[in-house]
Amino acid sequence: MIHFTCDLCGKRLEQAADTRYVIKIEVYAAYDPLEIAAEDLERDPTDEIEELLGDMEDRDAEDLENEVYKTFRFDLCPECHAAYLKDPLGRGARLRTRFGEN
Ligand SMILES: [Zn+2]
Repeated sequence: MIHFTCDLCGKRLEQAADTRYVIKIEVYAAYDPLEIAAEDLERDPTDEIEELLGDMEDRDAEDLENEVYKTFRFDLCPECHAAYLKDPLGRGARLRTRFGEN
């Protein structure tokens, strides 16, 4: 029998017997259209581009990719699904951590 595991609580979910919820999260860098002024077109961007490429050479390829686009997929049991919908960004946990630091 095919089974899944809840990615939050670790509960075993049987494909036939249990309701399973799937979370797919897509995270990507938002690029807003740039306004190009006449002075931007007159400027020589060569130095700027070389500097950018130099910075990228020192970086880890996976880190660079993660900055641009990243997807996640999780399986949840009904209880964790209900809890997730109440606080999908984990704000409660963040607040608790912040207060804990004080
Ligand atoms: Zn669970």
